[in-house]
Amino acid sequence: MTVLIRLATDLLNLLFPRLCNACGQSLVRGEKNICLRCLHDLPYTDYHLYADNRAAKQLWGRLSCHAVMSMLYFKKGSRVQHLMHRLKYNGQMKLGLELGQLVGERLKQSPGFSDIDVVIPVPLHKRRERLRGYNQSKCIADGIAECLDVHVLSNVLIKPFATGSQTRKGRFSRYENLKSAFQITDGFSIKNKHVLLVDDVMTTGATLEACGLALYTAGIDKLSIATVAFTD
Ligand SMILES: [Zn+2]
Repeated sequence: MTVLIRLATDLLNLLFPRLCNACGQSLVRGEKNICLRCLHDLPYTDYHLYADNRAAKQLWGRLSCHAVMSMLYFKKGSRVQHLMHRLKYNGQMKLGLELGQLVGERLKQSPGFSDIDVVIPVPLHKRRERLRGYNQSKCIADGIAECLDVHVLSNVLIKPFATGSQTRKGRFSRYENLKSAFQITDGFSIKNKHVLLVDDVMTTGATLEACGLALYTAGIDKLSIATVAFTD
């Protein structure tokens, strides 16, 4: 029977080849969303091994963080950009889970992230989440939480107001706009906890800063941050 299932799977793969979400080559049996070659060759930052890494420095003086890491360098036109695009716009929820697991494995090697109590994804505005069908940061958070054996709380930090297009606003008004965009629904569930805030890509850090400040108003003990990719 297993031989038959294997044959059927091989035939399906032949008719509808599954492709690597980073390089676009056909995936072979055993590969999930990213081919083994990409998994090996992706531009890993190793930021989880250095407390004063560039992602952490991006938030210095703006948001008090216990530990900060981003797993991959993000460059325009790169395989990492392709990955993040597939995660956001192609309904690749399983890819988010796999990327989250890769981040989680690294967090387990880093003392800064050893006592995380709960994982919270950066929320999307409800309308955008409905349109997309899912929140990509929640998928990443699920993968991380599975590795760390902790819970994800995805309804504690919410984004009740749409912030509109960020690209046409100046840096200051963008920040003002973001500052009030996030709210806490159930502060008690995170009070005195070490919270890990998770997002897909860290750029200026403005979104993470706004989310972090909202979390501190709920009386959390420590805030740490993990994202899949980093761009500056
Ligand atoms: Zn690949």
